Amino acid sequence: MQRLDRQYVNGKIVPSHGTDTYVVSSAITGEQIAEGVLGDAQDANDAVAAAKAALPVWSALPLEQRRAYLDRLADAFLGRRDEMVANLVEEFGTSLMAATFIVNQSADWFRDARDLVTEETFTHKLGPATVHKVPAGVAVLITPWNGASWFIAMKASLALAAGCTVVIKPSERGMFQAQPVLDAIADADLPPGVINVVFGKGDPVGNTLTAHPDVAKISLTGSTATGKVIARNAVDTMKRVTLELGGKSPMIILDDADTAHAVGFAIGVGMFNNSQACIAGTRILIPRSREDEFKTALAAAVQSLPIGDPRDEGTVIGPVLDHDQYERVQSYILTGIEEGGVVLAGGLGHPDGFERGNYVRPTLIATTNDKRIAQEEIFGPVLAVITYDNDDDAVTIANDSTYGLHAYVATADPARGAALARRLQVGRVMVNNMVDSREVPFGGFKQSGLGREFGAYGLEAYLETQAIFAA
Ligand code: NAD
Repeated sequence: MQRLDRQYVNGKIVPSHGTDTYVVSSAITGEQIAEGVLGDAQDANDAVAAAKAALPVWSALPLEQRRAYLDRLADAFLGRRDEMVANLVEEFGTSLMAATFIVNQSADWFRDARDLVTEETFTHKLGPATVHKVPAGVAVLITPWNGASWFIAMKASLALAAGCTVVIKPSERGMFQAQPVLDAIADADLPPGVINVVFGKGDPVGNTLTAHPDVAKISLTGSTATGKVIARNAVDTMKRVTLELGGKSPMIILDDADTAHAVGFAIGVGMFNNSQACIAGTRILIPRSREDEFKTALAAAVQSLPIGDPRDEGTVIGPVLDHDQYERVQSYILTGIEEGGVVLAGGLGHPDGFERGNYVRPTLIATTNDKRIAQEEIFGPVLAVITYDNDDDAVTIANDSTYGLHAYVATADPARGAALARRLQVGRVMVNNMVDSREVPFGGFKQSGLGREFGAYGLEAYLETQAIFAA
């Protein structure tokens, strides 16, 4: 059995100091594929010490050299692309197409960040002062399991571009995906201590990192519950925090929408990554005037989704991450039924022919917005369908959520969709299309998070602002 016991600290691959183990399993077969060895508080402290020692040199490096290192990271990520895709599909269960997209984009983040590293980004004159943007310090980057390479690259590229040194803590539930990422980071061979990778659970590794007095900045992508723990850990030393948390995003189909387009859009944004995505459109709001038509069309679309081995080209729905995730999804389907919801497609249990592994039946449940399956994040292919009376009602329902990450609108009239979008309490709204954009700010309102990532907005989160008045 393969042992995953490597950490990357101070420019070297080192064995984990901790001894706790973790069962790493295949989403496809459900069987154990490796034994993970988790780090402990000493690993976390060693990584912070290395990042602290590397900070003075890295933050003062000529920008041209910082850009060159970001290019090296992009190349190194591309060099490990095939392994990253294979491990992601095996452990996470997402389709080959989605995994390829996630991994290719991981390298792009470093190129984007490189282009932000210019003199103008960091210094400008304002009235009687010169305003400087200076690196916040040692940054701890904590990532989830739904695409390790993507989240690590997105956060690390901007932190490094800002001049911070970093300690990355990937999710213990994504250790297998993160192995080639660790190798790519080692391949890039940055000065020792500039990037460190420590595997481990929230306790003790996460807590040690997020309460550490030498850490200035934390960026988490994870659940809202974890975000609250981290914000509490951070406050004693007033660390800067960026929190990208959960979502329960509405997909509003307006009454003028074309049926085929709206249904394709809704299923696409609802089901990608087997719905294990913070931005998944998991509440589908349909107009009462066309209720039966949309329910029928949505159910037919869900029933016809190709379920299969995620390594096969035609597969859209694969297994969810692990057995815990399978059980979590089952319990939500049961809750939806017990709450009085009507199952329009799918339901409890495995899909026929997929009894092995963590396959879940893609499911559509008609319900109302006050029910748990409409309010809580499920993180599996279960979509709630909710009927509304008019546009005002749709906006009220969409905003009736503790979350506020993302929303989608389908309409024949983009201007009407854009006007409605302005009334939604969410960080991003996509009207009629899923747009791939890495320079536009990303982040949530309410309990979906704090701060913004991506592009110049994301870079800002790793910088302090200093004004100097010199006569
Ligand atoms: P999680 O909160 O369980 O774990 C996220 C990370 O936080 C992991 O690395 C975990 O080990 C770490 N962690 C847990 N406790 C910690 C602590 N006390 N201190 C420091 N670190 C700690 O989330 P997950 O299950 O890995 O990911 C799924 C969640 O992430 C969902 O809620 C999803 O919506 C959210 N997510 C959000 C976005 C976004 O951009 N908003 C993107 C993807 C996923």
